[in-house]
Amino acid sequence: MIGEPTPAEYRIGIGTDIHRLVPDRRLMLGGVYIPYPAGLLGHSDGDVALHAVTDAVLGAAGLGDIGTLFPDTDAQWKNADSKEFIYAVRELLEKKGWEVVNVDLTIHTEAPKLGPLKGQIRRCIAGLLGIDFSATNVKAKTNEGLGDIGAGDAMAATAIALLRKKPRRTL
Ligand code: MG
Repeated sequence: MIGEPTPAEYRIGIGTDIHRLVPDRRLMLGGVYIPYPAGLLGHSDGDVALHAVTDAVLGAAGLGDIGTLFPDTDAQWKNADSKEFIYAVRELLEKKGWEVVNVDLTIHTEAPKLGPLKGQIRRCIAGLLGIDFSATNVKAKTNEGLGDIGAGDAMAATAIALLRKKPRRTL
C-alpha cells in the first residue's frame, strides 16, 4: 500500500578462518601490518582476520564464500592484499542493496599480544566496510597453549556480520 513503510530486512552471517604462522613473512592482521618474526601463510597475504570478516559479510548476503569468489588457483589473488577482497565484496553488496550494520571479530592467537593493536584493526575494518568505528569490535583470545594455535603455529579468526537492506525510496 502506498505510504506503508516496508519492514526492514536484516541478515546475519558468520565467517571463520585459520592460517599457518611461518617465519620470515610479513604479518598482516585485520588490514594492519604488525612487526613480528612470523607471518601468515596463504595464497594472498594470509590475513586471517579480514578473511573471516569477508566470509561473514558474504554469508549474511547469501553470496557464497571467499574461496569461491577469490580462488587460490587464480594468479590474480597471489599475494593479494586482503583489503581487495573487502572492496570487491562491498561492490557486490552495493549491487544487491545491502549495507553493513556491524561486525564483531575474534582473533585466536597466542602471540603477539593484540591489546594495543585492537583499536587500529577496528579503524581499518570500519574504513574498509564504510561503517562507524562503534559498529566494529575486535576481541583477542589465546588458545591457552592448546593445539596448533597454542603452539604459535597458526592463527584463527571468527567474525559475525549483520546486514540491513537499504530502504528503497517509494513515491
Ligand atoms: Mg584465509
